[in-house]
Amino acid sequence: MHTTRTLAILKPDCVRRSLSGEVLRQIENAGFKICAIHMQQLTRTGAEAFYAIHKDRPFFNDLVDYMTSGPCIPMVLEKQDAVGAFRILIGATDPQDADEGTIRKLYADSKSENIVHGSDSPENAQIEIAYFFGESGIPTDIK
Ligand code: ATP
Ligand code: MG
Repeated sequence: MHTTRTLAILKPDCVRRSLSGEVLRQIENAGFKICAIHMQQLTRTGAEAFYAIHKDRPFFNDLVDYMTSGPCIPMVLEKQDAVGAFRILIGATDPQDADEGTIRKLYADSKSENIVHGSDSPENAQIEIAYFFGESGIPTDIK
C-alpha cells in the first residue's frame, strides 16, 4: 500500500472559532501527515472557481459568502487512501447526519458552515492541490 494525498481546508468558521489547533490535532491523531499548509483568504473569484461544480445550486451564493468571510487554512494531507480516509474522519456534509466522533459532528454547527473541506475523489484532490499549492514546493517524503 502506498500513501496518497488529499486537499483539506479548515474553513473560515473553524479559524474564526479558534478551533484550528483542535482540528489539526484530530487530523494528526488519525494518522495524516501534513505536507503543505498555509493561511489565506479566498477571493470571490477564487471561491467561485473552487466550488464551480456547485454554481447552479441554490446555496452557491451563500457558500461563496461563507468561504470568503475570513481566512481559511488549506493543506495537503498524506495517508493510505487519503481521500477516503479523510472523508470518513470529517463525516457527512450535514453535521446532524455525521457519525459520532467525526470532526463535523464534534465541531460543526450547520450544513452550510461545516468547519472543514475534503476532496471527494483522487482526481479532484490532484486538481485542488494544484489549485492551492501548485505542483512544486511540497516535500515528497514525509515520514
Ligand atoms: P466540501 O466540498 O466542502 O468538503 P462536501 O463535499 O461534504 O463538502 P458538497 O456537496 O461538496 O459537500 O458541498 C460543498 C459545501 O457547500 C458544503 O460543505 C457546504 O458548506 C455547502 N452546502 C452543501 N449543500 C448545502 C445545502 N443544501 N445548503 C447549504 N449549504 C450547502
Ligand atoms: Mg464537496
